[in-house]
Amino acid sequence: MPFTKLGLNPELLRAVADKGYHAPTPIQAQAIPAVLAGRDVLAGAQTGTGKTAGFVLPILQRLGAPSGTVPRALVLVPTRELAAQVADSARAYGKHVRLRTFQVFGGVNINPQIATLRTGCDLLVATPGRLLDLAQQRAVDLGHVEILVLDEADRMLDMGFIPDIKRVLKLLPARRQNLLFSATYSDEIRALAERLLHDPLSIQVAPRNAPIELVEQCAYRVPKEHKRHLLAHLIRENDWRQVLVFTRTKHGANRLAQQLEGAGITAAAIHGNKSQSARVRALEAFKQGEIRALVATEVAARGLDIKELPHVVNYELPNVPEDYVHRIGRTGRAGRAGEAISLVSEDERSLLRDVERLLRRAIPVVPNPAFPIVETAHHAASPRAAEHGKPRPAARTAGAPASHARGAARGGKSVLHSHATRSRRQRSR
Ligand code: AMP
Repeated sequence: MPFTKLGLNPELLRAVADKGYHAPTPIQAQAIPAVLAGRDVLAGAQTGTGKTAGFVLPILQRLGAPSGTVPRALVLVPTRELAAQVADSARAYGKHVRLRTFQVFGGVNINPQIATLRTGCDLLVATPGRLLDLAQQRAVDLGHVEILVLDEADRMLDMGFIPDIKRVLKLLPARRQNLLFSATYSDEIRALAERLLHDPLSIQVAPRNAPIELVEQCAYRVPKEHKRHLLAHLIRENDWRQVLVFTRTKHGANRLAQQLEGAGITAAAIHGNKSQSARVRALEAFKQGEIRALVATEVAARGLDIKELPHVVNYELPNVPEDYVHRIGRTGRAGRAGEAISLVSEDERSLLRDVERLLRRAIPVVPNPAFPIVETAHHAASPRAAEHGKPRPAARTAGAPASHARGAARGGKSVLHSHATRSRRQRSR
C-alpha cells in the first residue's frame, strides 16, 4: 500500500517523500488511518518498526493549524535520547506545516526549557519527571492536551515511572485520544492499557516477544576475563566499523570502553550517569563513524536512533530476557540485515537458556576463533607480544567445563606475565 492511500495530507506526504520512504511499514499502515480517525490505539511494536512516524504523522495532521500557545499533543517517553529522537522526527515530518514541537527532559538546566515553552508549543515530547517539574512551576499548561502518547510504555514501567505517569494523567483533560506503544506486554502494561484506552485498535506488528527476523544471532562461550580480548579481536578481524556493545552496569560500560581504547579501538561509553552533553557527543561521534564501539547500558540505549546498525554485541546477557529482544532490535533496522552476537560466560548459561525459551529457538553457539590475550592498559603491546599471545588457544568453545575456563584464564595471565618479563628484559639491555 502506498503512503498516499493512508489519508495523510499533501504537506505530510511531501515530508515523507523527502525522507526517502517508499512505502509505509506495517505499523504505519495500520496506525495512521486509526489515529487519523480519532481512535485509541494499543500497539505492540519494537524500535525499528517505524512506530514513531506511525503516531507522529497522524498527530501532526490532527493538530491541523498551529495554535502556538499550549501543547495539544503530549508524547511521554522514558529517556532523554528517545525524547530528542521523537521530537527530531516530528520536526522532520512536520517541516512543511508550521506546528511547533519541543522536547523536555531532566538532567539539564530547566530554565531554557521554561523560556522555550513560553514561546508556544503544539506538540510536546517529555520525560515524566521533568514534565511534572515544569507543570509545578506553571511553565506548562497541560489542560488542553487532546492526544496523549505513551511511547515505550514497558520501559517507562520498568524504570519506575508509573507514579509520575499517574500524576501527569491528573493534569490532562479527561476527554482525549490515547495511544500506547510497547515492545512487550506484561500484566502491568495490560492493566495500564485497560485504564487508559477506550475501545482501542490493537496492533501487533511483530509476533509477541519475537526479535526482528532479519537479525542473525549467534553466541560465543568465553570466560568472563577473556571477553574483552575476544571482542577486540572480532572488531579488528571483521573490520567492524560501528558496533553497539551492551554491558549490564555503568561501571562495566566505562571500564570496557577504556579497555577497548587501550586495545586501539576507538570507543565511548553511554549511560545514565553521563551528562546529557557527554551522551549526545558520544552518540554523534558514533553516528559520524569517529568511534567504532559504543558501549551502553540497557536504559541508556533505549531510544537511540542509529540507522542501519550492523552489529550489536551482548557483552553480558541481560537479566531480563525481554531486554535481549530490545537490544537486538537495534540492528537490522528498516529492512536491513544485522548481526547480534552474545559473549556468554559460564555463569550466564542460564540467562542464555531464558532468552532461548522466550524466543522459542536456539541461538547457535559458534566456535571461538584463536584470539590474542594482550595486555594493553599499562603495558603497550609490542607486535612480538601480540604474536606471542596469538597461538594461545581460544577461550573454550561450547560446553567447556568451568575448570577449562579457569585454565584459559590462567593461560591469559601467563601471557601477560611473560610479556611483562620480556619488556623488563628488553629495557635492561
Ligand atoms: P522507529 O521504529 O520509529 O524508531 O524507526 C526506525 C527507523 O526506520 C528510523 O530510522 C526511521 O527513519 C525509519 N523509517 C520509518 N518509517 C520508514 C519507512 N516507511 N520506510 C523506510 N524507513 C522508515
